[in-house]
Amino acid sequence: MNGQVPGAQPHLIPPPVPVTTTTSSGNLLQEWPKIGLTLIHEFISPAEEQEMITAFHAISPLNSADAKKRISQHFGHHFDYTTFGIDESKHSPVPSYIMNFLDRLPVDTEGKERGRKPDQFTVQYYPPGAGIPPHVDTHSMFGEALYSLSFGSGVPMIFRMSGENEARKLRLPKRSLQEPVGADGKPVEEKGNKVDGVAVHPAWELMLPARSLLVMRGASRYGYTHGIRPRKTDVVDGTTVRRDGRYSITMRSIRRGKEIGCDCLFPGVCDARVRQEQEARERLRQCERVETQ
Ligand SMILES: [Zn+2]
Repeated sequence: MNGQVPGAQPHLIPPPVPVTTTTSSGNLLQEWPKIGLTLIHEFISPAEEQEMITAFHAISPLNSADAKKRISQHFGHHFDYTTFGIDESKHSPVPSYIMNFLDRLPVDTEGKERGRKPDQFTVQYYPPGAGIPPHVDTHSMFGEALYSLSFGSGVPMIFRMSGENEARKLRLPKRSLQEPVGADGKPVEEKGNKVDGVAVHPAWELMLPARSLLVMRGASRYGYTHGIRPRKTDVVDGTTVRRDGRYSITMRSIRRGKEIGCDCLFPGVCDARVRQEQEARERLRQCERVETQ
């Protein structure tokens, strides 16, 4: 055995070994400092988890008609992708079950995003077997830290360093810059180490247990795609387990005015860089037009 989990996809590699400590409240804390990834176990209590599930279905009752669809609820500020700004007329009050843990979120303690808390919340229900295609969240419009709280059931998240394929997709003509890279509704073919004939980096799966909080910064936020494979069962510690309904709260902070932009180390999947490339091409076209007149 070379560290491979029986039944795991052969091209998946185990996640790098994390730095493991405990939080001040005694919960397991796993960190992958090189890529800016943190996983805090038992971030919420089972009682809080139950309250969240009840509150979610008070708004979106489960019925058999949409039992197989992902359900989303949005709270806080709404970002208007046509004006590139906050639509102040659309603010949905943030439910108390989110407000209750907001002060416990680990926020930056230094740097330009010091103390910054999320102000946009997407709560989602994934029926058993549902997934989300691998994608990179838009860089320029949101603060660096992305938070994802899992509850109801655990699920493995797939991470992979983005490559040529994602860069090419982001530069397709007519593509909306705001759409997450790869999230075109079409599952990315991940067999072997090639996608559409283009070599990709190996992927690794990280189990996100129920009640855990994932925080993505740095490379894991800007350079890696993350997604969830649609499948009915997962292999956890060598045992096949059925996937139950899983809920998540994705939390972001919206950038305003001059904050919008990005100078990350991953220009291939950076929407700010793509916009600069388009503007440079447009300037060149205008110069050429003037010269031929
Ligand atoms: Zn960027």
